[in-house]
Amino acid sequence: MSHSDFDPQNQRMDSKIIASLERIAQAFRVLLWTESKEHALSPIQVQVLIFLLHHSEEKRKVSYLASEFNMTKATISDTVKSLEQKGLISKEYTERDTRSYAIRLSDKGKDIASQTSLFTRELRAPLDELDAGDKENLLLSLIGIIRHLNRVGVITPQRMCFTCSHYRPGSGGQGHFCQLLNQSLAPTELRVDCAEHVPV
Ligand code: SF4
Repeated sequence: MSHSDFDPQNQRMDSKIIASLERIAQAFRVLLWTESKEHALSPIQVQVLIFLLHHSEEKRKVSYLASEFNMTKATISDTVKSLEQKGLISKEYTERDTRSYAIRLSDKGKDIASQTSLFTRELRAPLDELDAGDKENLLLSLIGIIRHLNRVGVITPQRMCFTCSHYRPGSGGQGHFCQLLNQSLAPTELRVDCAEHVPV
């Protein structure tokens, strides 16, 4: 008997969930590609622009972007070079180290990043239909999957509570607590991209 998650004869619920996640990943690719084409950019160029729009200076560096997108520094350097030639970013060198630079969006780059960051709108529509309890369960399930993928090295650690040195389980091992904020976190308050995240 086949155990492929993509075998239509396979009626296991786990396999249906995995096949469904694959379709959602495909939707991300299609939506991102469509948005990229409208601006004559590649998908990775759009992803980098959106990342730059929402993250602080220490994360706007080639090495950080390479880790974030699981790509080589050479590939990200090429992406940055192309974005610079299109007038969407500039490089900011520090006085102490003229080889290292942070990447800054130009006004035109900010404008395109803001527009393209809405490429997920069709994914939001069905989520809006879910009630709060279903959303909470879905969020916790997805965080659990991402956490596992981080742990086994499939994707680089993301800025989530479960990989943060400020995170503690709540009292009695129940719930969640952030030592930095000094407060309990409801499941819906768990972060998947926290600016204050410090890797464990
Ligand atoms: S600092 Fe951010 S990522 Fe870390 S535990 Fe607190 S809320 Fe979560």
